[in-house]
Amino acid sequence: MRILIVDDEAGMHDSYRQCLSAGEGDGTLRQMASELFGTHDGAEPAAPVFDLVHAHQGQEAVDLVAAAGEDRFAVAFIDVRMPPGIDGRETARRIRAIDPDINLVIVTGYSDYAPIEIGRVAGSVDKLFFIAKPFEVEEIVQTATALTQRWHVDRELAETRAALAEKVLILEEQTHELAANEMKALHLANHDSLTDAPNRLAFIRSLSGWVRADECFAMAMLDLDRFKLVNDTFGHLAGDELIRRVCDILQQQVPDGGMVARLGGDEFAMLYPTGGIDAAVMEAERMIHACSANFRIFGHSVQGSASVGLVVVEAESHADPIDVMRRADLALNDAKKNARGGVRVFDESMDESIRFRRAIESGLSRAIEQGELRLVYQPIVSRDTLEVVAFEALMRWESAEYGTISPAMFIPIAEESNLIHELGDWVLAEALTMLEKWPGQYVSVNFSPRQFRRPNFVGHIVERVDRAGISPSRLQIEITETAIFDDAERAAETLYRLRQMGFRIALDDFGTGYSSLYNIRKFALDCLKIDKSFIDGMGRERESAAIVHSIVHLGRALGLEVVAEGVETDAQVQALRVAGASHLQGYHLSRPVEAARSLEIATSRFFGESDPVAETLPGSGTYG
Ligand code: C2E
Ligand code: CA
Ligand code: CA
Repeated sequence: MRILIVDDEAGMHDSYRQCLSAGEGDGTLRQMASELFGTHDGAEPAAPVFDLVHAHQGQEAVDLVAAAGEDRFAVAFIDVRMPPGIDGRETARRIRAIDPDINLVIVTGYSDYAPIEIGRVAGSVDKLFFIAKPFEVEEIVQTATALTQRWHVDRELAETRAALAEKVLILEEQTHELAANEMKALHLANHDSLTDAPNRLAFIRSLSGWVRADECFAMAMLDLDRFKLVNDTFGHLAGDELIRRVCDILQQQVPDGGMVARLGGDEFAMLYPTGGIDAAVMEAERMIHACSANFRIFGHSVQGSASVGLVVVEAESHADPIDVMRRADLALNDAKKNARGGVRVFDESMDESIRFRRAIESGLSRAIEQGELRLVYQPIVSRDTLEVVAFEALMRWESAEYGTISPAMFIPIAEESNLIHELGDWVLAEALTMLEKWPGQYVSVNFSPRQFRRPNFVGHIVERVDRAGISPSRLQIEITETAIFDDAERAAETLYRLRQMGFRIALDDFGTGYSSLYNIRKFALDCLKIDKSFIDGMGRERESAAIVHSIVHLGRALGLEVVAEGVETDAQVQALRVAGASHLQGYHLSRPVEAARSLEIATSRFFGESDPVAETLPGSGTYG
């Protein structure tokens, strides 16, 4: 460890030499080191080895420090008075300016300078020390040893710090790089690589936001006319260039607050706020007009032309984004077919499925008058004896126009209009007529949620049943979970009143809705109908079997009958007997049958004399 001695007296240099040379003299140094830094293992500590460098004038010392390079000094002992050159204070100042880390020990004979004054010029007060002349040997040894140790530790610390700082720098760089990569990936995922416009994914995401906003907006789907021709005649690069140019134009032309996305190929989609259909059409026409320029592309002249399909979405419509896109697409198709270079606004006549719905609706309203509806009856049998205790009434529609239409298809359509009430009234009347003919069975009639929520539903039913002179106990009202859980309180009250009057209540398709098994306690019920999907799954998946078992359990605990629906195999019959279902219904027992056949079955109370099940297997003449 290098120590610089700065003193103008030669004798002083000898004193320093005596104090600080290891292994010489009286071993003061060794002893001091041991006292200062201790030895944990009792061994003699190695005395620090000092490399003394001597300067007799201040400037000489300054030059030595400047020339030290890698071999820096740990400590400098500096005399204050060193005529004729610069004094100790100035020496300290200059040395400190060169080496900020060096420990300076000012050795002062008389108090020419107050320490604070020297500190002011020599800086780094924590590395500035004072020893009064004449000094003791111990004082010098102790100071030298302690300060060289400290210098060493400081250096190590500084190195570690520098290394850490470097690591932090690298980490920061890496973080930046990562963030940039992430941004890039995110950008790529949401943008079209050719035009850098938002892509289909980003568009759908935006659209999902727009349909929720409280502002009327338009979605325009734009498609270039004869784009294929451009590609085929001038090549794909020209086609790409045209797409890019059109995209730029659209981005400039889209109304303020709007967005342009490239959906793919030559198809773009725009969203923009609008005041209504007329304004939206005008904007779309303006955009088409802007695209109908003559483009110079790679030396070729290309005439631009585009068609637009338009959908205007009312504020807070909460429309389904995909449905909005589908409508815009249908309108665009129509524009391409009929109005090239123009705008078509979506209307329902463009939508095949909507057209079909409308047709069904108008067909249904005539179906009753024209006698196209009838009921079929599916037996519900008791588990053990297979006695027919009831029939479920199921609607059939033989349409002159469309052939046989399933209730699963037309009931939901009727549900959307008041037609469902007309149908329901007809079904109830028809079923009640049938009841009069059967010896004692009850009829189970389906009521859709809308029917159930009809004002004065109870009064309505009571009146019909009274008029037919039928006991309420022979009518079972089948409703689904959806019907009751939308307004549970009102439903509970309705069901309670019906049940008080003696009507039977069944919860249909049980298990498919959202009701928890626990919740249904609140409702006055007679019967749970386990949905067919669970019966199907029983032999295949553990879950279904478990669900069936727990529904049966629950039903029994609440004192309810449990009907298993959609029983199609003998294995299911056996499994359901084991599980404890009280009643069975399904093709394996009987398909829904025509009224006349239901009367035969009702009268014999079983399907056949010898083997009640076999005769009614699917395809044995019953309805299907
Ligand atoms: P749902 O109430 O769940 O009726 C049971 C459906 O399953 C009936 O279909 C029946 O024919 C069928 N089915 C019975 N056993 C089996 C079987 O073993 N295997 C299979 N694969 N199917 C079986 P359907 O008659 O087509 O009725 C469909 C739905 O239409 C009914 O489901 C009910 O929700 C509704 N519906 C039928 N008639 C009426 C009605 O008069 N009024 C109301 N509101 N809805 C009705
Ligand atoms: Ca049903
Ligand atoms: Ca059902």
